[in-house]
Amino acid sequence: MKALTLNLEKIVRFMQKALSVPNFKPKLHNVVDFEDITEPELINENWVKIKVKFGGICGSDLNILSMNVSYTQSVFASFPAVMGHEIVGIVVETGNNVDNISINDRVVVEPLLPCEVREIEPCSSCKEGNYHLCSKQDQGVLSPGQFIGGCKDTGGGWGEYIVVHKSRIFKIPESVSFKEALMTEPLAVAIHGIFKKLPNAMDNVVVIGSGTIGLLCILALKSLTDCRIIASAKYAFQSDLAKQIGADEVYQVKKDRHIKKIGKKLGCKIFSPIMDDAYPLGGGGDIVIDSVGNSSSIMNSIRLTKEQGTMIMIGVPAKELIDWTPLVLKECEIISSHIYSFEKFNGEKHRTFQMAIDLIASSNYNFANLVTHEFYITDYKKALETASNKKEYQSIKTTFVFD
Ligand SMILES: [Zn+2]
Ligand SMILES: [Zn+2]
Repeated sequence: MKALTLNLEKIVRFMQKALSVPNFKPKLHNVVDFEDITEPELINENWVKIKVKFGGICGSDLNILSMNVSYTQSVFASFPAVMGHEIVGIVVETGNNVDNISINDRVVVEPLLPCEVREIEPCSSCKEGNYHLCSKQDQGVLSPGQFIGGCKDTGGGWGEYIVVHKSRIFKIPESVSFKEALMTEPLAVAIHGIFKKLPNAMDNVVVIGSGTIGLLCILALKSLTDCRIIASAKYAFQSDLAKQIGADEVYQVKKDRHIKKIGKKLGCKIFSPIMDDAYPLGGGGDIVIDSVGNSSSIMNSIRLTKEQGTMIMIGVPAKELIDWTPLVLKECEIISSHIYSFEKFNGEKHRTFQMAIDLIASSNYNFANLVTHEFYITDYKKALETASNKKEYQSIKTTFVFD
């Protein structure tokens, strides 16, 4: 089958170049290999083989390909790995111990590879149900990998076939299209983020960034809470979409003008530090969610968090230069949020992934609207260009599609 793979030697070569050449930005399609490889095989009788319909391109994939990534991520990875962890498709083969899923079922894949999937004694996190924090992702029946899309045994969403453990498969409700279901994985990321600290009714929540994750945070907040949502958006088309899906107010990023405007809206006095952007004080967001994860989004999140308020980090920064002083001066707390597992909701524990599917199925909003571009795998250069150049192509979610 044709697939886009990451190979270790190549990655290391690009990493070394990134170290020695300031501001080195490789062409994304040069970092992956477009290859003809053998289809992945069932690991054992607990596994299922899936023919991929859509394999989404995530911001974290683009970060890897642009060398904007932390080396710590490499401890749970094995190569060559087919990339892609946002996956929907059709079941084509089931192991003998699989009774929860049948051939031809339409499914969405939770791509994580924790202890249960590796068929080993659960680590301390998995024991608690926090399998997204698994510390044994280099052990058991599988090669190292935190998720499908970074493990050499499973295939990934940027290839035609993958294999998945039976515990990581969810049926897509009949009323939900493949394209809508493709948003399950990033929506689960957003839901996990907002459940780190659910806002009270009428709390002011600021969402920094209106890309896929930012927009899904807005949708999740709108559906599950009664807070007031203020968002920032880099581009006009993102701003329009953020308003459309329920943000109460959206401000487009223009130097620090949006910081001043949001700050004023939230009752702050705006100060002007020497040689720095606006510094709002005396108010701000009760909760500020950074959906981006770069130095300017982190700085703006800190600026807009009210005194003793909470900033939630969903975007994953690598090495960023941050001025932490305002965080200390305002006694804000930062809560980091990483992928998903379970959430406590209405007194019960729910799998985040199931909550995401239920929300897509019950929402009046058509989540397929967020899937703006689709490409065959043979057009991967154009696909990566479209996904990474949001301004020019007005892309939200770009995905690979297979016939
Ligand atoms: Zn992702
Ligand atoms: Zn574990």
